[in-house]
Amino acid sequence: MLFYWELTLACGLACRHCRATAMSVGAPGELTTAESFQLLDDITGFGNPMPHVVFTGGDPLRRNDLEALVRGATERGIGSSLAPAVTEDFTPERLAGLRDAGIQTISLSLDGSTASLHDGLRGVSGTFEMTMDAFEIAADPRHGSRPCRSRSRRVGTRWCRRTPPCTGR
Ligand code: SF4
Repeated sequence: MLFYWELTLACGLACRHCRATAMSVGAPGELTTAESFQLLDDITGFGNPMPHVVFTGGDPLRRNDLEALVRGATERGIGSSLAPAVTEDFTPERLAGLRDAGIQTISLSLDGSTASLHDGLRGVSGTFEMTMDAFEIAADPRHGSRPCRSRSRRVGTRWCRRTPPCTGR
């Protein structure tokens, strides 16, 4: 059983197709951390095989208790996945922490082959480039350096990985 948990309506994107009617801040009445742990307890009531939880939203990265909830799921024997938006909140450090907490898989959306197509649907310019970076981060969240955001530093289909990161000039 898959359990899709919309943790929040908060999201930094403004996608044309957004089903969640996302907004910049969370909605009133979203579950607190304590209430969320109670829901995790309730989920264990389904028994074995335990449901797999997909943390989604809105953007689940907007919840600062996300790592605690992922760890709480792991401690209860509940596997979990992440369906984040790609914004500045998507960082190697955040993803490494979530992996430490027990996140098993991640899904990223790419809506077009060009920035104009993707950003046009996502409503925020620069999202295409950040999504390309996110693929690299997701592939290796512990690499310790941020993929360069400058096209001039792109080599073929890959980003340079200078440490410290270059300035993109
Ligand atoms: S990333 Fe998801 S939640 Fe955010 S605006 Fe787009 S569709 Fe809505």
